[in-house]
Amino acid sequence: MITEQECLERDARDPLRRLRALFQLPEGQVYLDGNSLGPLPAAMPARLREVVEQEWGQALIRSWNDAGWIDLPQRVGGKIAQLIGAAADEVVACDSTSVNLYKVLSAALSVARGRGRDRIVSERSNFPTDLYVAAALAERHGMQLVLADAEDIPALLDARAAVLMLTHVDYRSGRMHDMAAMTRLAHDAGALAVWDLAHSAGAVPVDLNGAGADFAVGCGYKYLNGGPGAPSFVWVHRRHHDLRQPLAGWMGHAAPFDFQTDYAPAPGIARYLCGTPSILALSALECGVDTVLAAEPLGGVAALRRKSLALTDLFIELVEQYCAGHGLERVTPLAPEDRGSQVCYTRGEGGYAIVQALVEHGVIGDFREPDILRFGFAPLYTRHVDVWRAVQALREVLESGQWREPRFSRRAAVT
Ligand SMILES: *Cc1c(COP(=O)(O)O)cnc(C)c1O
Repeated sequence: MITEQECLERDARDPLRRLRALFQLPEGQVYLDGNSLGPLPAAMPARLREVVEQEWGQALIRSWNDAGWIDLPQRVGGKIAQLIGAAADEVVACDSTSVNLYKVLSAALSVARGRGRDRIVSERSNFPTDLYVAAALAERHGMQLVLADAEDIPALLDARAAVLMLTHVDYRSGRMHDMAAMTRLAHDAGALAVWDLAHSAGAVPVDLNGAGADFAVGCGYKYLNGGPGAPSFVWVHRRHHDLRQPLAGWMGHAAPFDFQTDYAPAPGIARYLCGTPSILALSALECGVDTVLAAEPLGGVAALRRKSLALTDLFIELVEQYCAGHGLERVTPLAPEDRGSQVCYTRGEGGYAIVQALVEHGVIGDFREPDILRFGFAPLYTRHVDVWRAVQALREVLESGQWREPRFSRRAAVT
């Protein structure tokens, strides 16, 4: 049996242990929801105060040039690029994931048009916003969105497939796709591959150029710790840099301050910008991305991945040891190459209430419809002893049946 002492010893040996100090984490809580909203980087309040009081308050409009505001989407994008196997000038940070997906999917579909391809292929369990955006675009282009379970997707990659659109790590199950293999299948069929990295960027190694992917988007407020509603990011392979995206706005113009009547897209990834960037949000996101880049001298994403697997392995093992017989069924695959940085379980009943009861024990995970208990293990700040505490709390909640108290079943607006 693994003991608390053993977990503490693993923490003492953890080469990334010092990175936890980069965050302001509330005392006495175990936060296993960094895959939904990353915690507050310790540097962020002072940095935002500086942006607000100095750059905005004192320097006013001059800061667009003097503080480099105008380049912030590229600067932050360039930092994110290091985490996803992209070149610095291939990524910009802007807008939301949903909006960026609309842009790249539109660009991808513009390639397919005229080739008699009329299908967007995706996974049935994909995140709803991705499916909504794809369905709306399919309808507008007279195409079809075709959904399947992961195993059945290869069979759909045929002469009708225009685009394969996948989320790298499934938000519910934590299952991870082999990006290179799926991209190859799409290309072999003559389709393009669009990837959503919402649950991968900053948590698992991603090599977009290595995989030969075509387009990607990702989320700023999950493992990148950019704060609630942080800007998203968008990557486009260089071979597609001449394609247009439909949200033509002045910030994506080749010369925004020439104020020309006609739109001329900027060369490269800058054309994926649309309106004026949110400087406060991008400044916060930069602090968040910097927390992930702080792992670079310690081995970078590869080291984060090693620790993430150590934490998730430990959680799975401890749940088996301490929570057996309570009806929890693991949904997340066991093989490391098949999973991201979260572990999920189903249970016949009580999933939502169990997650709520855990909050009272200082353990924050989350629940996803219809019946998923989801626990994310962000390797930057999660300790082995946190995993221990979470499993002990879970055992208590299950053994005591405390979750059956009606107050734990009341639903809030956000789950
Ligand atoms: C979190 C998440 C999003 C969020 O999109 P927003 O536009 O930021 O609300 C999109 N797709 C996936 C797969 C996600 O996990």
